[in-house]
Amino acid sequence: MSALFLYTLFYFLISICIIYPPTEFVSAGLTVKDIFANWLGSENEFFVEYHIRRSVATLLLHSVLPLGYVLGLLYFNHIDAEKLLLADGNYLGPFIVLCLVIVPLHTLTKIFEWSAHNWATHPIMQNLSLYSMFFNNNIPCVAKSINTEYRRIDKIAIVTNSITRVVVTDNWIIKITPYKLQVAYQSDAILTVTKSDIHTTSRDEVQFINIQVKSMRAMIQGFDIRLNVLDFKDLQDKVLGPIAIPHNITLYKTLIDRFIDTFKEEVNKNPFYDTAEELGQCLGCLQTLSNVKLNRLCRSSEIVGLDDCTTCFCRPMWCIDCIAKWFASKQDENAPETWLSSKCNCPLCRARFCLLDVCFVRNLND
Ligand SMILES: [Zn+2]
Ligand SMILES: [Zn+2]
Ligand SMILES: [Zn+2]
Repeated sequence: MSALFLYTLFYFLISICIIYPPTEFVSAGLTVKDIFANWLGSENEFFVEYHIRRSVATLLLHSVLPLGYVLGLLYFNHIDAEKLLLADGNYLGPFIVLCLVIVPLHTLTKIFEWSAHNWATHPIMQNLSLYSMFFNNNIPCVAKSINTEYRRIDKIAIVTNSITRVVVTDNWIIKITPYKLQVAYQSDAILTVTKSDIHTTSRDEVQFINIQVKSMRAMIQGFDIRLNVLDFKDLQDKVLGPIAIPHNITLYKTLIDRFIDTFKEEVNKNPFYDTAEELGQCLGCLQTLSNVKLNRLCRSSEIVGLDDCTTCFCRPMWCIDCIAKWFASKQDENAPETWLSSKCNCPLCRARFCLLDVCFVRNLND
């Protein structure tokens, strides 16, 4: 019995890994898109055709998993298998085996039927055909439009988990899942944030949001996108219309945004740097007047080491946001808790400075 148990456990785990591949499987090339790579063709050239084939291959692979279990059982452990499935008076066993054979056969017949019609009857194509109204009722034009836009480099692609990806092109929002390809035509889509939840990991808190993508037309089915809030800005920038955020949902700031806030609070505690000089535009953003000066104040005479801050002789040339971003960009991404106590170099003269050396400028002429 323990051999049967081990085999079952092993097969179950392998099946989970096939359906929901962990990163090790993905990097080892053990996914549908790697195994069937030759048959699938090029995603970049024929995006829609590629994903129809990929979904069909996935469906077939998943549909043979239960049958594979029984065949494996018969092959490796036929005594247990016979006891379990073909014992005298056991009618359930043969019935289950019959079902397990019928499922992949049925899938295979479906696939032949779709392929005989050049995939026009496949659910993905049927779904795309709903959008033909935007293309003078020309169905092939819909797929062509998606294929062309997918080839452009300015599309954005967000991997939301190991089996789901969201792609946004100039006119399309596309959600790719194992069996489906759900699309929305941008000018017809209404996007609303519907839910947000926060997960605490060992290092940080991660916020996920659900966005509902709905068509203005009742016949077109909508779908949901679930993503990390850090990817939200990329999505927002590429989507043509606004993304509605209800008042009861607050989007977390990114780590950098939160750091900038703390950085400003700390700099506020430092003394002002007085100058009579006219202040120019910030060299970083060219949008605001520069308002900080790197002014070495932290010096402690007893410690003189290589790591000490040095004097920056540059004029005030940066705004607080830009210097905070610059500071954050030079820190160890994996240890945000060390950022405030770390050092950085002046963007121009490379003088070393710490948080205590960043001073707001006070213009004496004002
Ligand atoms: Zn700036
Ligand atoms: Zn400097
Ligand atoms: Zn310092």
